[in-house]
Amino acid sequence: MLEARDVVSGYGSVSVLHGVDLELDREEIVAVVGANGAGKSTLARTLAGLLPLRSGNIILDDTQVGASSSHSRARHGLIMVPEGRRLFAGLTVRENINLGRSAVGKRGSDPEPADVLGDIFPIIKERENQRAGLLSGGEQQQVALARALAGRPRYLLLDEPSLGLSPALTTQLFETIARIREHLPVGILLVEQMVDRALALADRAYVVERGRVVLSGTAADVAASPEVQRAYLGGAGSAPASDGPAAP
Ligand code: ATP
Repeated sequence: MLEARDVVSGYGSVSVLHGVDLELDREEIVAVVGANGAGKSTLARTLAGLLPLRSGNIILDDTQVGASSSHSRARHGLIMVPEGRRLFAGLTVRENINLGRSAVGKRGSDPEPADVLGDIFPIIKERENQRAGLLSGGEQQQVALARALAGRPRYLLLDEPSLGLSPALTTQLFETIARIREHLPVGILLVEQMVDRALALADRAYVVERGRVVLSGTAADVAASPEVQRAYLGGAGSAPASDGPAAP
């Protein structure tokens, strides 16, 4: 399990996270949702080791990793796909994916489950020798996911993967994430602004506001909560029922 315990972190003199607790098991998808600037990406970056932990703990399969580098966490199975994909545009799809293997050292040296990656990402089979920079945004996001999976993560952190994608490509992306869960034993933390879609896909969810978790539970319960309906889903409480008899 990946655990965050009372995590505090931020930038410069400003703390953004004020004591966040979170758990991610293998083989579950957990969504982190909330408004712009709530601290979702800061949480993902802190978990991945890209931002230092100011206090609290991060525990990766019973080992405290809060002081470890992002590279060390990746070698221990915690890999993040950053916002904006960050592929090497001049390298081929295959070369980009291979970088994901070599980045984790010994961990990536087992024979690649090429068939598994190919099943999840048809793009790999079709376009593996094309330069990544020539692919569409949706295809590049698939390559970024495949590169991360090539490092054999036990836990995968996805920071706003739908950013910049059309609704149709976002649907494809979420289908791809569902396929990852079917094929591989990896826990997925999905940081998303597309609250409705993220909650429809996830098993559990956390709602973050101003650097604190204000609600957590099964994704269905979170989606049904009046606060989430009102603030993010435009549902109950935001409009009166328009037809049908009034309740007695
Ligand atoms: P969004 O969906 O808009 O990215 P978010 O919930 O992911 O929102 P964060 O990106 O974690 O929010 O930002 C939380 C706070 O930290 C915001 O007030 C933001 O301005 C601030 N912040 C983010 N990145 C930096 C940075 N590199 N330096 C200073 N402050 C930052």
